[in-house]
Amino acid sequence: MFSIGCHLSSSNGFEAMGKTALKIGANTFQFFTRNPRGSQAKDIDAEDARKLCNILTEHNFAKLVAHAPYTLNPASSRPEVREFAKITMKNDLERMEYVPGNYYNFHPGSHTGLGVEQGIEHIITLLNLIITEEQKTIVLLEGMAGKGSEIGSKFEELAEIIDGVKLKHKIGVCLDTCHLWEAGYDIKNNLDSVLDDFDKTVGLEKLYAIHLNDSKNELGASKDRHEKIGEGNIGLDAIIRIINHEKLRNLPFNLETPNELDGYEKEIYLLKNARQSY
Ligand code: FE
Ligand code: FE
Ligand code: ZN
Repeated sequence: MFSIGCHLSSSNGFEAMGKTALKIGANTFQFFTRNPRGSQAKDIDAEDARKLCNILTEHNFAKLVAHAPYTLNPASSRPEVREFAKITMKNDLERMEYVPGNYYNFHPGSHTGLGVEQGIEHIITLLNLIITEEQKTIVLLEGMAGKGSEIGSKFEELAEIIDGVKLKHKIGVCLDTCHLWEAGYDIKNNLDSVLDDFDKTVGLEKLYAIHLNDSKNELGASKDRHEKIGEGNIGLDAIIRIINHEKLRNLPFNLETPNELDGYEKEIYLLKNARQSY
């Protein structure tokens, strides 16, 4: 099964996202757990969550990806910033149990001058405090472009974080094609060797989801600017190879391209047509 979707607004609740996804031909999607800037979350409407779960089952959706607010920084040098990230993520994971069995993706964070090693230690400490044996959600570290002091733009860093997490079956990785490219991983010309590298450092069994984006920038630019599919420097051919690659094709792909719904619908249609049958 080809699992393709995009980032949807969660402002009208769970069921509304399911219906929107169906309308644009998606069978998975991503959403922010709360305002992306990290403010107060709305109370969970259990009935609304149940309605979404029914849609997911009935239409055979792939796993969903909930995205943590991108302003959280679990690696910060400031204890109050780490504490805020911990409280927010813990609360998000509790809320995720209303839509059980999906993924929770977050940006590992920026070390803000502490250095990568100290930053990684903070991230590990936080994860070990919030991940529980009972939760049905798998927490995903997003691979980053490497802007500023961002941690997680190198496979080795992702591996080191996972290595420190006690409940290993609850932690994995989400790779973003724009971030990979801007971090210097040449998925356009050397996809196989990038995946081999990932397999050797992190392990492909730890890869749970893909963010599918083109990039406005050159390989290794570390700026993190997403582009529409086929309009950037990765290009359509490389993206088609990615969705069809034997090591990736069963993962859920979510678009985070600069689009409104109609643009996402067109990209989903394009990619479905470019998908080979196996
Ligand atoms: Fe992200
Ligand atoms: Fe992303
Ligand atoms: Zn990005």
